Amino acid sequence: MKVKFWGVRGSIPSPPTDKQIRHKIKNIMHEIRSQKLDNQHEIDSYIDNLSPVKAGIVGGNTACVEVRVNNQIIIFDMGSGLKNLGNYIVKNDQNSKGLDLHIFLSHTHWDHILGFPFFAPAFFPNNRLHFYSGHPNLRERLEIQQDFRFFPVALDHMSAKKDFTQLEHNSTIKIGEVEITNLPLYHPGGSFGYRIDYKGKSFVYATDSEYKDLKESNVRNHLIFFNNADLLVFDAQYTFEEAIHKEDWGHSSALIGVDFAVQANVKRLALFHHEPERDDYEIESILKKSIDYRKINYPDKLFEIFLAIEGSEYIL
Ligand SMILES: [Zn+2]
Ligand SMILES: [Zn+2]
Repeated sequence: MKVKFWGVRGSIPSPPTDKQIRHKIKNIMHEIRSQKLDNQHEIDSYIDNLSPVKAGIVGGNTACVEVRVNNQIIIFDMGSGLKNLGNYIVKNDQNSKGLDLHIFLSHTHWDHILGFPFFAPAFFPNNRLHFYSGHPNLRERLEIQQDFRFFPVALDHMSAKKDFTQLEHNSTIKIGEVEITNLPLYHPGGSFGYRIDYKGKSFVYATDSEYKDLKESNVRNHLIFFNNADLLVFDAQYTFEEAIHKEDWGHSSALIGVDFAVQANVKRLALFHHEPERDDYEIESILKKSIDYRKINYPDKLFEIFLAIEGSEYIL
């Protein structure tokens, strides 16, 4: 199973600002001087080995994660990251027989659907797009997004075949041998998490979720859903303090993710749906605090915590 992050930002696409880029350049120049690197080869290799936080970007595109498993392409959410995924698919996978693409939506807030009108595979008549959602009327919701008052190309003018499946809550469906289970999450208007199981490996996508109702039965449902996941993608938009103050805004914090990951024996935790107001250094500080929190509170738990970064890939 291969997982790739195409969009990791929450709420609204957030390209880096001029000020943020200059700040990174100044920090790199400072490091190069303080390390006394003086030939171009050393400088190049130093820069090539810097993290995306220092010398690239965490990512400005909104939610979109691709999973390739058992020759299937499964996509979670259609945020602005979907455009680049679509271009990649057309360049590398498109064939004359057409492709089957399976798209699961957490919900239909703009940051999770606004990439679809720019999804190039949807313009190939032989392609088949299979949409899945826990919400009703998904076709209608996408048609509204592409009403001519808001967008020049209507949904019906995207010539790929489309079918829409409304998922029963908490149910499991199969795509070939791949099992996909959903879980309703707490979010304004509702959101759904998805878990993929295939040949003993598991991936969980759980974004746009607030963990407000922590009564035992609800926590247990989440722990079963996250149990033993090889990778859990978790809504870490807020700091712990913000999560307390922003009750009912529908998002969570990295520290809650760490607590769940410990209890559910998760192998890797990816912090996702980054707050659009934060720069990359601030996002990285959330990661550092999460790792410290794990070390202090759960010193014998050594699972990996990392930032979901646009363009990064993981093999499970
Ligand atoms: Zn969102
Ligand atoms: Zn939302």
